[in-house]
Amino acid sequence: MTTATRRLPNWMKTPLPSGKEYVELKNLAAAQQLNTICVSGNCPNKAECWGASTASFMILGEKCTRNCRFCDVKNMIPDAVDWNEPLRLAETIKALKIKHCVITSVTRDDLEDGGSAFWAKTITTIKEVNPGITMETLIPDFYANSAHIQKVIDAKPEVISHNMETVRRLTPKVRDVARYDRSLKVVELIAASGIVPKSGIMVGLGETEEEVLETMDDLLKSGCKVLTIGQYLQPTAHHLKIEEFITPEVFIKYREAALEKGFKMVESSPLVRSSYRAERHIHA
Ligand code: SF4
Repeated sequence: MTTATRRLPNWMKTPLPSGKEYVELKNLAAAQQLNTICVSGNCPNKAECWGASTASFMILGEKCTRNCRFCDVKNMIPDAVDWNEPLRLAETIKALKIKHCVITSVTRDDLEDGGSAFWAKTITTIKEVNPGITMETLIPDFYANSAHIQKVIDAKPEVISHNMETVRRLTPKVRDVARYDRSLKVVELIAASGIVPKSGIMVGLGETEEEVLETMDDLLKSGCKVLTIGQYLQPTAHHLKIEEFITPEVFIKYREAALEKGFKMVESSPLVRSSYRAERHIHA
């Protein structure tokens, strides 16, 4: 049973997105052939984020070289890199008067530099066309290659995030190619740069509370400052099934534990996704 067919607990229900900003963003993104992860990831917070002029875009195409068992992005041979995309994206952001954006990408293991030069070009172009904009870049692991990650760092986004997605034990089951310790290394490289380091996990995949707390400790040791925790939702019948709907009370407990352990900012609730309320995280 997928999320769509399974009966959701009351706390997972959200209003359908509506409003002028929502319609404008959806239409313009489609016209400019841009991917908003808000739509392709079927994010439950579209209404809230788009209404607040914050949006997340996915660059480097819609086809990923990896095949994580929780993710609805297509696993296929990716298209050629479209070097006009950074300017189209920057101009769309300007037209929509977006103040804070989150940029993410598919993983491009097919490219020699993992797509890092394209990432840098995207960040600098968005900043040139939109003076004063703030940005979070949610990056793939780049195999923890420090030279590739440095290209993103040198383009100076305000926040760089890399998600652990799940606890250590479940990583091989949930993610593809990625390694738990490699992702910690990515966070460590970001933290060492002085840019705000952020990470996120999904819960409800069969992890124990103790394992969630251990992941918090591992992230803190890597220098992570901002953490997001949200409920995993199964996109289709072919994806990992939901083991459990975590209650709002447990999310509050995780939030309090994470703040007490030393995170500067924590978003923890059933509907949280990694870009939820992302504009606040530049202050971490
Ligand atoms: S690497 Fe990222 S985009 Fe690709 S399948 Fe995994 S989670 Fe999805």
